[in-house]
Amino acid sequence: MESEVDKQQGADLLARLIGNELPDEHGRYGPFGGCYAPETLVPALARLAENVYRYLDDDNFMAHLDSQLRGWVGRPTPLTHAAGLSERWGAAVFLKREDLAHTGAHKINNALGQALLAREMGAKRVIAETGAGQHGVATAAACARVGIPCTVYMGAVDIQRQAPNVDRMYQLGAKVVPVETGDRTLRAAIDEAFRNWVADPEGSYYLLGSAVGPHPYPYLVQRLQSVIGTEVREQMLSIAGDLPDIAVACVGGGSNAIGLFHPMLADESVEFLGVEAGGYGPGLGDNSATLAAGEPGVLHGSYSVLLYDDNGQIQETHSISAGLDYPGVGPEHSLLKAIGRVSYVTATDDSALSALQECCAAEGILPALESAHAFAGARDWAQQNPGKRIVIGLSGRGDKDMPTLSQHIPTPIVASGDAA
Ligand SMILES: *Cc1c(COP(=O)(O)O)cnc(C)c1O
Repeated sequence: MESEVDKQQGADLLARLIGNELPDEHGRYGPFGGCYAPETLVPALARLAENVYRYLDDDNFMAHLDSQLRGWVGRPTPLTHAAGLSERWGAAVFLKREDLAHTGAHKINNALGQALLAREMGAKRVIAETGAGQHGVATAAACARVGIPCTVYMGAVDIQRQAPNVDRMYQLGAKVVPVETGDRTLRAAIDEAFRNWVADPEGSYYLLGSAVGPHPYPYLVQRLQSVIGTEVREQMLSIAGDLPDIAVACVGGGSNAIGLFHPMLADESVEFLGVEAGGYGPGLGDNSATLAAGEPGVLHGSYSVLLYDDNGQIQETHSISAGLDYPGVGPEHSLLKAIGRVSYVTATDDSALSALQECCAAEGILPALESAHAFAGARDWAQQNPGKRIVIGLSGRGDKDMPTLSQHIPTPIVASGDAA
């Protein structure tokens, strides 16, 4: 199989990844990645790649991005010592608080960086896709801040399911377009956003929401999210006097995880754990555990690991958390798994729910259901590896998940006389 990487190749690929030689000029991470796009989009992607390398190495652009991250997003986000979880788990647990970033999750780091890039490139409007609406909200906010009109494509099914986020996007000045084709969810919304970009590749900028898609998106999103791991590295050294033994993050498309992991890949003492959505369990269609259960193939412009059935049809996926409910994963993760630098496990809906409740009770923090998968994975790991320093990527806050939570964990009504 093309994706198999032997040990020597693995060591070479890791060295090249750390040395910023990957992705290569074809956008490849070893066997993964690349740029599988319709003819009409190839020039637009090439122009984007040129500008990505130009602006991400431009001191003025990066200084401006940094000042906006500080003044508007609220960076650096804290690294919180989780005393309650540490005691329960017999570990030293630290939480990277992306839940405290503006709009409530890590997604704003990417949306802001790309909106600024779009403006530099002279785009007249920004196009984005959204599933649960979190990326749409972050993009709407970033575009308002930067001063570019924004159109968000969203599956008609998701519009029904995520009404509050549709209203948030509208209030922030975005136009939300329902997508009635295909599965009428995230996958169809991405297809529709690409189609609209093809119609006007010069005037519009496609602001993709995770470390997926054709080159240069996986690289661009990794660079913009790496602010997470860069801050964690410094914060751990100053708070704990040492690097973590392991960094743990949930993996949907893989952007918050790659942002946490990438800046520490060269630190040999640090282990990494990506936690995918195990849903109801391992049955076909019951989860979104792409790396655990998938095979290599092409989806949305990139060769990576995917969930598809025996007929080559993309598999329907399930997760209690909308942000992890995607049948693909970014190509850098496929490489990191193939070379063994990062371990990937799954957490079921139920274990994520119980980890969420534990975090609420022990820390007074309500994490997003996506982030709760990282807590569940970290808890299992801590049980096998007592006494270690663990950093958990708390990718977002859980307020958006209240409707789902109240469905699974009904709030008991306490009679006034019993409220002791
Ligand atoms: C969207 C989302 C994710 C999943 O996206 P990645 O690209 O895998 O990081 C995780 N956590 C939160 C809070 C999200 O909103």
